[in-house]
Amino acid sequence: MRIDILTIFPEMFENVLSSSMLGRAAAKGILEFHAHNIRDYSDNKHRNTDDYPFGGGAGMVMLAQPIFDCIDAVTHECGDDTKIRRIVMSPRGKCLTPELAMELAKEDNLLILAGHYEGIDERVMELMDDEVSIGDYVLTGGELPAMVLIDCLSRFIPGVLGSSESTEDESFSGSGLLEYPQYTRPAVFRGREVPAVLLNGNHAEINKWRRQQALIKTKAMRPDLLEKAELTKKDLEFLNRLESETKPE
Ligand code: SAM
Repeated sequence: MRIDILTIFPEMFENVLSSSMLGRAAAKGILEFHAHNIRDYSDNKHRNTDDYPFGGGAGMVMLAQPIFDCIDAVTHECGDDTKIRRIVMSPRGKCLTPELAMELAKEDNLLILAGHYEGIDERVMELMDDEVSIGDYVLTGGELPAMVLIDCLSRFIPGVLGSSESTEDESFSGSGLLEYPQYTRPAVFRGREVPAVLLNGNHAEINKWRRQQALIKTKAMRPDLLEKAELTKKDLEFLNRLESETKPE
């Protein structure tokens, strides 16, 4: 997959896209990243990328011209007939979910625009296929959201995760529960013991414990997820027992 990022801070992407899983995926040729400096496309002698909003109000608005020209250049570079899914990071967009990440992971070409200032000229938004938000809060710029999106969708591209890692047995995936607690060696650390069930080698017992712990964690941290989760009869019985045990007398 080729990902083109449009930003006024391309240097912010250097470390993130060349480290860890993303860096390895790029080295293997699974992912190809191109961060473009929108400022390079400004036809203004001061290389401005923003101006005052029509109608007044606080803050500045990103100019349409450099972004339009940058998109044209990327389109030309990819081949004029190449289908490129264009995404703008925006707090008013649809929320990033595993389903959206999986859908985007199937594309061959993505263009991601990281916004700045108070807003982006709406004529730019008209060129976009999707507005994507990473949550109901406002950040200073779209660079971190773009990195979050890239990291999230990359995990669904075959070959990006090592063979020992999987997207199937994690929080939000599969049954829709949060993940159970994990431990590694030593079995006792500063007097804190790993649950005995994990050390006895009985995989049926371990799986039962993990499922119950996932239910406990989800009920405590994100009870809303239980409404959509795929729960078995045994899960429901366990949750009912939990409920009656924790009910105040
Ligand atoms: N005035 C805008 C609003 O109220 O919707 C917020 C602009 S914000 C300061 C500047 C840029 O940061 C946005 O254009 C967007 O690219 C990015 N951004 C901020 N919060 C975001 C979020 N939660 N999700 C995605 N992008 C976000």
